[in-house]
Amino acid sequence: MKQRIVVLGAGYTGMMAAHGIARRTRNADVTIVNPTELFDERLRQHQVAVGQDLVVHRIPDLVAPTGVSFVQGRATRIDAVNRGVVLADGQELGYDYLVYAIGSTTPRVEHAFTIDDPAFGQALRGNAEGVLAVCGAGLTGIEAAAEAAEAYPGLRVLLLSRGEPGSMMGPKARAYLRNVLDRLGVEVRTGVTVARVLPGAVELHGGERIPTDVTLCTTGVVQARLAADAGLAVDDAGRVTVDAALRSVSHPEVFAIGDAAAIRQAYGTIHGTCQSGIPTGAHAAESITRILRGKDPRPFRFGYIHQPVSLGRKDAVIQFTHPDDTPSRWYLKGGAAIAYKEAVSSSPLKFYRSRTAIPSALTKRSGGRRNRLAHLVERANLSPSEGSAR
Ligand SMILES: Cc1cc2nc3c(=O)[nH]c(=O)nc-3n(C[C@H](O)[C@H](O)[C@H](O)COP(=O)(O)OP(=O)(O)OC[C@H]3O[C@@H](n4cnc5c(N)ncnc54)[C@H](O)[C@@H]3O)c2cc1C
Repeated sequence: MKQRIVVLGAGYTGMMAAHGIARRTRNADVTIVNPTELFDERLRQHQVAVGQDLVVHRIPDLVAPTGVSFVQGRATRIDAVNRGVVLADGQELGYDYLVYAIGSTTPRVEHAFTIDDPAFGQALRGNAEGVLAVCGAGLTGIEAAAEAAEAYPGLRVLLLSRGEPGSMMGPKARAYLRNVLDRLGVEVRTGVTVARVLPGAVELHGGERIPTDVTLCTTGVVQARLAADAGLAVDDAGRVTVDAALRSVSHPEVFAIGDAAAIRQAYGTIHGTCQSGIPTGAHAAESITRILRGKDPRPFRFGYIHQPVSLGRKDAVIQFTHPDDTPSRWYLKGGAAIAYKEAVSSSPLKFYRSRTAIPSALTKRSGGRRNRLAHLVERANLSPSEGSAR
């Protein structure tokens, strides 16, 4: 009897898991479920928002060569007792193993847009000479502000933030980032907290009101209640709590990966990035196929490599990091950084289109020493002349 494996969510990590399982074993029927047929390239949402003409990828085409079945639908309930998933259209899918990979979403704020909202792009086009306020200067806020300022030179772009943009980077990369934002005309206001968004204005703590035509909120992500409602153990943020092999601590037949999982490492809980999420997908695939072969799954280990930030289409900065995501002495800027960031953004799709199985060890960097992939990436892309941050 083939095992039934359902992967919920065909984002970066779910796709990696589905491909990994299908390429490793013939002893499983793998089904991947996603609300849309088109793959959502979250890494490029800021490009989509300013109307860039990007290649679209159909999930059925991406999974077809591996034999994975695609079901279009949104899971509305997980029956963790009887091992089934119910979709919005009433369809039910039974599973022996479930991979929970539904990612995260940006919280909706009244009178403001989120980066994934198609109406944001329309609002920008309709206010190309107006004022855009971007609330939050995390990496998504920075990328959105830079992209909008470059695409719409007549637009006044305000980046509102409590802290300095790029505060997690080393001083040189951070200074470079700030210079590029200045050059693009992005007006950065730090030390401010947005209290609320009003029609046509943003109100700061303290009462100051800033008139805006378009407001974008990029302040953090939230989790769906699907796992919690199913009785799976979740952390305070609603992410599924997993063991070292990425199995739910309450329901070991459920694996959780990517933004939707709370994954502990020696330095803390992994925060949601593609960089960390894709290795979790590869590892879940390896763990499930090991279990199917009667072997114990291995513990997951991950260390960060970089903080890549695009600054419009003509500039970028990449801060290389220690495994715990603190900045190392290396960073890239300008043309080399643009090429690096593009390689980061395009490589998942290239992999899904290829037929090669990447050993999961090659997608990770262990908590201590850098592994071969990290070593090759750094060798290929860095030279001391690119600048040391300290
Ligand atoms: C503008 C932007 C730039 C970024 N840049 C970088 C970067 O340079 N490097 C980096 O490492 N990270 C970056 N990130 C973060 C990265 O995109 C996320 O960490 C990554 O997408 C998480 O992958 P995931 O598979 O967990 O979730 P997702 O990619 O969000 O995929 C989840 C999938 O599940 C589907 N889904 C949701 N609910 C259900 C349901 N109920 N039933 C079925 N399917 C469902 C969704 O539709 C989606 O297709 C960026 C994010 C943004 C927004």
